[in-house]
Amino acid sequence: MLVRSAAGEPLGLGAYSPESQIRVRMWGFDPDVVIDQAFVADRITRSAARREALLAPGNDPAADSATDSAADSATDSARLVFSEADGVPGVIADRYGDTIVVQLTTAGADAWRDVVADALFSLPGVRCVYERSDADVREREGLDPRVGLMRGDEPDSALVAHEAEWSYVVDVAGGHKTGFYLDQRNARTAIARLARGRRFLNVFSYTGAFSVVAAGSGATSILSIDSSGPALEVARRNGEANALDIGELMEADAFTALRGLRDRAREYDLIALDPPKFANSERQLEKASRAYKDLNLLAVKLLAPGGTLLTWSCSGAMGAELFQKVVAGAALDAGRTVRIVDRLHQPSDHPIPLAFPEAEYLKGLVLEAE
Ligand code: SAH
Repeated sequence: MLVRSAAGEPLGLGAYSPESQIRVRMWGFDPDVVIDQAFVADRITRSAARREALLAPGNDPAADSATDSAADSATDSARLVFSEADGVPGVIADRYGDTIVVQLTTAGADAWRDVVADALFSLPGVRCVYERSDADVREREGLDPRVGLMRGDEPDSALVAHEAEWSYVVDVAGGHKTGFYLDQRNARTAIARLARGRRFLNVFSYTGAFSVVAAGSGATSILSIDSSGPALEVARRNGEANALDIGELMEADAFTALRGLRDRAREYDLIALDPPKFANSERQLEKASRAYKDLNLLAVKLLAPGGTLLTWSCSGAMGAELFQKVVAGAALDAGRTVRIVDRLHQPSDHPIPLAFPEAEYLKGLVLEAE
């Protein structure tokens, strides 16, 4: 539909979501462009083409960029389409080898379902396009969940994503989101550099991707904590797939488990704290801030002198500045001197358009405690 300013001037074309709080999402700012099948297919194809360099075989995983932690590793897996950031609001597509997993989260995206599936299936080397439109946000758009095969053959039950020298089992049908946290690629690169000779605590480990990297990079001990039994079962398989001992897996609530470790005066040299999204909107920021503070306070207390904490917020509603303040408060309460030595961001296949800064959601701090 054509969107006009209050003065009646045409602004561009948007997709209407009658049930959503966000009533219109813009698909283009040229009111004369026709948004049809060819237009949508072209956006998908071009979006995938922008990831070609990242997915190119032979791109050297060891070649760190000048900002070291920002380097992308050689991989066969990447986010091909990232919603507004690629001009297709509500369309997310993640590629794992020959399999593409699609999430359609808005009414506008849902309307182009077949065009999106066809465009993705026609990309070179694709054997399967699978739908995981079961994110909570769909409910807020008034859309029913939809999961299942869209094109091609059923996904391989032993599907594996390859990145740098590691393999990660991807549970396409049952995993979180599309099965794997592609957005933490830069973190995996950072952990490979930081793990040698260190005792590693991986909190909110999911399927243990960080633990695999740490085990393969010389960590001396690893404890992974997650509340999801099925995620930890995949973590165990990930250890096997890489022929690595990834240490202890603990199924527990992170808050409780961290308190337990604190009470037993445990110490770690490297801690990763990658909690789920605590704030869906600005209204939840205060409560979310308290949760981030509690977690970071416990984590800082568990750090050995000279230890490193990697801590994230993936809540889009929480800005980088607020997150840093919350973590600073935690360090202050812990009575430790803590320095930011680096920052970690969502990788290049999760870009942030200058005109759509809301696409930035993943903020990480690399902290060193005295
Ligand atoms: N770092 C992981 C991704 C973490 S996603 C990776 O790179 O793959 C967040 C994880 O937190 C999920 O696996 C979820 O099961 C877990 N989780 C959510 N609430 C939790 C809680 N209260 N205690 C422990 N784990 C929790």
